[in-house]
Amino acid sequence: MTNLYTDLIDFDKNYVWHPYTSMSNPLPSYLVDSAQGVHIKLASGEKLIDGMSSWWSVLHGYNHPALNQALHQQIDKVSHVMFGGLTHEPAITLCKKLIELSPAGLERVFLSDSGSVSVEVAIKMSIQYWQSQGLSNKSKLLTVRNGYHGDTFAAMSVCDPVTGMHQIFDKVLMKNLFAPAPSIAIDEHWDENSTQALAELFAQHHQELAAFIIEPIVQGTGGMRFYHPNYLKTVRELCDKYKVLFIADEIATGLGRTGKLFACEWADISPDIMCLGKTLTGGYLSLAATLCTEHVATTISNGEASCFMHGPTFMGNPLACAVANASIDLLISSDWQAKVNQIESWFIEKIKRLTGAKRVAQVRVLGSIAVVEMTDSVNVAEIQKHFVQKGVWIRPFGKLIYMMPPLVIEEQQIDTLIDAIEYAIKFDECFISSTE
Ligand SMILES: *Cc1c(COP(=O)(O)O)cnc(C)c1O
Repeated sequence: MTNLYTDLIDFDKNYVWHPYTSMSNPLPSYLVDSAQGVHIKLASGEKLIDGMSSWWSVLHGYNHPALNQALHQQIDKVSHVMFGGLTHEPAITLCKKLIELSPAGLERVFLSDSGSVSVEVAIKMSIQYWQSQGLSNKSKLLTVRNGYHGDTFAAMSVCDPVTGMHQIFDKVLMKNLFAPAPSIAIDEHWDENSTQALAELFAQHHQELAAFIIEPIVQGTGGMRFYHPNYLKTVRELCDKYKVLFIADEIATGLGRTGKLFACEWADISPDIMCLGKTLTGGYLSLAATLCTEHVATTISNGEASCFMHGPTFMGNPLACAVANASIDLLISSDWQAKVNQIESWFIEKIKRLTGAKRVAQVRVLGSIAVVEMTDSVNVAEIQKHFVQKGVWIRPFGKLIYMMPPLVIEEQQIDTLIDAIEYAIKFDECFISSTE
């Protein structure tokens, strides 16, 4: 066992690429044995409380009996068939559910295999929508700074130009337009003047704009910022006024995270196109969806190409759809909103003790998302050693230590997460530049 363990770790370190780290000098990776409920069990024996939901995806905890059962049942019928010319009940049921649950007007569904792809699909839809009407000039995207929409090319072209690594791919990226990031936080007093620069960009560029794309309410990987719902209302008005499609990227926020089923509900608006992913399968398999209005779908279909030009091999994978259906049923049949509110009030109460601590710039909470923004960048390898020692799994980036645990988390486990942060941030080696 010990030899197998070190062999695996060594091979991984030398040959297996992990996300956002060097191949020649990678950040350490911990070997996972199994996971259950809110716990990830390492091969080295530690049982860690998962504060990350495996990047926003795990909703009901790991190894959930209902989700396992849905997969067992489906695997004995059919694991995969092509979606060209064939269809199946799990995909049909899922699309029906998504149409029912999502904001009004979103009535056509395009399934794909990952969040970034669903963003590509949304962007292609918006461009093809105008192309079909002979308006091929309307092919650019307007977005805001501090956004994150995925790692494929069109998605990257609407990520924050600084943190999104635009300079590396500058020569090949679509040249899109950036408004300032929404500046009024969700709990601050709304100021109409704060959208002036945005309105000017719409006024100046609408003839070349296919769509405006944004993560509703929560700017995730681009800074973990929670902004005011009136911003989205203004965007909806500007999109209508200037004839620009509105794409809402709900890949991180969709299906409950913020305390609403979809973050668009905070502003009571419907986008023209919406992307879902991450938690869609309860964190079991990769699946994404791009929803659009009947009008967008019809316009594209009546255009020159007469169809939408996209079709991933694993489109509508039956296993992924079956587990998505089970996960959504589980969510909807539970008192999920009370649970998210409960997690929110636990976080608010317990995270207070970090306010004013050394290097803590700000703490903020929305729904089941909690953020501790530091004044210095975190040394991920160092701080994770302390976290693992304290029995928690939290993966910070930049100055942000953030959590969005599975909804099955209990009060005492939230205490443990906050305790671990309180403990780890006392060590100078957990930060890249010290303030003194
Ligand atoms: C994670 C994420 C994506 C990309 O999804 P992948 O499945 O990683 O391709 C896109 N948009 C948002 C808002 C995300 O959080």
